[in-house]
Amino acid sequence: MEWAQRLQWVEGWGMAVGGAGYVFRPADAAGLAEALSEVRAAGMPLALRGAGCSYGDAALRAESAVLDCSGLDRVLRWDPEGGIVDVEPGVSLGALWRMTIADGWWPPVVTGTMAPTIGGALAMNVHGKNNWVRGTLGEHCLELDLVTPRGDALTLSPEREPELFRAVIGSFGQLGIITRARLQLKKVYSGLVEVRAVAAPDLATLLRLTDEAKDRWEYVVGWLDAFARGAALGRGLLHFARHLEPGEDPRPGASLSAAAQDLPSTLLGVVPKSQMWRLLAPFTNRPGMRAINLAKYLSGSTLGNRKTYRQSLAAFSFLLDYVPDWKKVYLPGGLIQHQSFVPIARAEEVFRNQLEVCLECGMPSFLAVLKRHRPDPFLMSHGVDGFSLALDFPVPPRRRAELWAMVRELAGPVVDAGGRFYPAKDAALPAALYRDTFRDGQLARLAELKARLDPDRTLRSGLADRLLDGS
Ligand SMILES: Cc1cc2nc3c(=O)[nH]c(=O)nc-3n(C[C@H](O)[C@H](O)[C@H](O)COP(=O)(O)OP(=O)(O)OC[C@H]3O[C@@H](n4cnc5c(N)ncnc54)[C@H](O)[C@@H]3O)c2cc1C
Repeated sequence: MEWAQRLQWVEGWGMAVGGAGYVFRPADAAGLAEALSEVRAAGMPLALRGAGCSYGDAALRAESAVLDCSGLDRVLRWDPEGGIVDVEPGVSLGALWRMTIADGWWPPVVTGTMAPTIGGALAMNVHGKNNWVRGTLGEHCLELDLVTPRGDALTLSPEREPELFRAVIGSFGQLGIITRARLQLKKVYSGLVEVRAVAAPDLATLLRLTDEAKDRWEYVVGWLDAFARGAALGRGLLHFARHLEPGEDPRPGASLSAAAQDLPSTLLGVVPKSQMWRLLAPFTNRPGMRAINLAKYLSGSTLGNRKTYRQSLAAFSFLLDYVPDWKKVYLPGGLIQHQSFVPIARAEEVFRNQLEVCLECGMPSFLAVLKRHRPDPFLMSHGVDGFSLALDFPVPPRRRAELWAMVRELAGPVVDAGGRFYPAKDAALPAALYRDTFRDGQLARLAELKARLDPDRTLRSGLADRLLDGS
């Protein structure tokens, strides 16, 4: 195919940043080798891409080649006895659990949507609502194959070149192309989880209840009403969940079928899923979102408070997939997310400040999510012993510069508190601030490894330009 025919608009999931790129989408190893050789011959920078679920510029770079790995999507080996799977990088989390659930296995770490590919998820070292208990996805990767931009193949594992293994996972596609991953899945005895909902009237209570729950429940996630002020600042609802033990589910065969997990295809049996986002669009403005947040908090803190119920694993895990294309409500400007990770001792102070700054600027977050985290052994780790707060913001085209400045204001105290940012969610942080979160020479070590594996600096992205070059 001619280069001109490959030209496409490639954007971050939030639709707020993007650029035109020359897209290659190989379907097998031969196609991948061919793509790499064409890119090398053209001397073109190359951004790696999975399903494109990173909110910002991690999987794209303007006027560069883009290697879309989502077509490399074969399951290579499945061991239903031991729960070990070998997959190509383009297999999505959704395709993975659909294949394994009937055998009683579930991915040990899943994200809020099932769309990410395993390659993209390992390259970001994703976390789930059980980060405190299970760590990141990389901690369940037994082995991976990596192809360097020059075409050399390496096999890495915690035992084989462990330093490089721990650097590749989480290095946001800067050291090579993950072409195979072996993962250990988690045994489950039911397709249901037991969920407990608890309301918290303020930020301090929300953080305390989250921390207390982390050792008793597999999954802990908090939602905050980011419109609440004063004594109610940071109020929210927590959801704790645990897998059912053997014998607790009277019909495990039924709940463990992929069909039983499927999210409903219509709303109230009427509105087709594909059109649901249109119902949300009229409310996606400040008064509408204030009302929705208030209604959600009031119902959760009264009728729903301290309720325990059972829910399918998919419904609990992938809440954000209920309404397909919901992000379209944010057009034309799109949305950005800012997720900061703050050590436990400083979390309340930093998050309180973030919520207040957003309210003062007149740009409260439309969706705010809290999680509890732990450190992990990967070179470019974003994990801390503390909490993360993920804040979604619409990007009003006329206030874009103001929003970017506000995110910078939110981020400063995170750096001072010894915190970190999640590259999968970032589009707006300036290099200087971001680079300060890598305190132990991680960026220098990544640059050394990159000089070894990618000496021509072929692999690039908007994010990598900022982090590695400080541009
Ligand atoms: C609605 C929503 C909810 C989310 N919830 C969570 C969450 O709960 N927890 C969490 O951790 N994240 C979450 N994310 C972020 C998402 O999990 C990450 O951005 C993930 O990396 C996306 O995977 P992807 O396949 O879309 O990869 P992309 O976004 O396309 O790429 C991600 C990175 O991987 C690199 N890459 C892609 N393929 C390869 C490959 N084969 N080899 C090497 N590098 C590669 C890219 O260069 C890029 O740097 C969420 C995202 C969305 C949209």
